[in-house]
Amino acid sequence: MSALSATSPRSLGIATINRRLHRQALNVFMFIVLAHWAEHLAQAYQVWVLDWPRPAARGALGQFLPWLSTSEWLHYWYALVMIVGLVLLRPGFVGRARVWWTVALAIQFWHHIEHLLLLVQAQTHVFFFGGTVPTSVAQTVFPRVELHLFYNSVVFIPMMIAVYLHQRPNERELRATSCSCIHRARTGRAASAPSAPAA
Ligand SMILES: [Zn+2]
Repeated sequence: MSALSATSPRSLGIATINRRLHRQALNVFMFIVLAHWAEHLAQAYQVWVLDWPRPAARGALGQFLPWLSTSEWLHYWYALVMIVGLVLLRPGFVGRARVWWTVALAIQFWHHIEHLLLLVQAQTHVFFFGGTVPTSVAQTVFPRVELHLFYNSVVFIPMMIAVYLHQRPNERELRATSCSCIHRARTGRAASAPSAPAA
């Protein structure tokens, strides 16, 4: 049974989020994602443009609140919030948009496993792969700043494609859903239909 067709209170909530509140929920989620991105881009600027030593490059907020960039708990929670958001908002996407959103979810799931490994090491002080600091699987090959820029990019790009396609459904996708974003696309399409000449 799909999340939208189930009838428990929880699934009713999920159904509401994916229909009436999809656009608002998507906006809130995107705000969180973009705020996180801004921190990673600020860190990249500090490392590559300002040439700061990497431990000092903690992003914009991290300059004032250093624990933001060093807390593995915070990194892990953010990765988890991403998964919850991607899962919760997924039923609202249909067709091509659903495929791209699912790609983002799958990649984020692996990204989250990497952060789980980092969190376990930070808590136990047992460092994997011969590291002297918490070290994730792909970090054995790539430096951490670059690696997480890459992870955030390969999650963000399919998300953006999904949102783009979600706002521009084809006829079949339009018929398959009833979320608030699609409602906008539907009314926009009706308004732009070449039925009456402009005055
Ligand atoms: Zn929507």
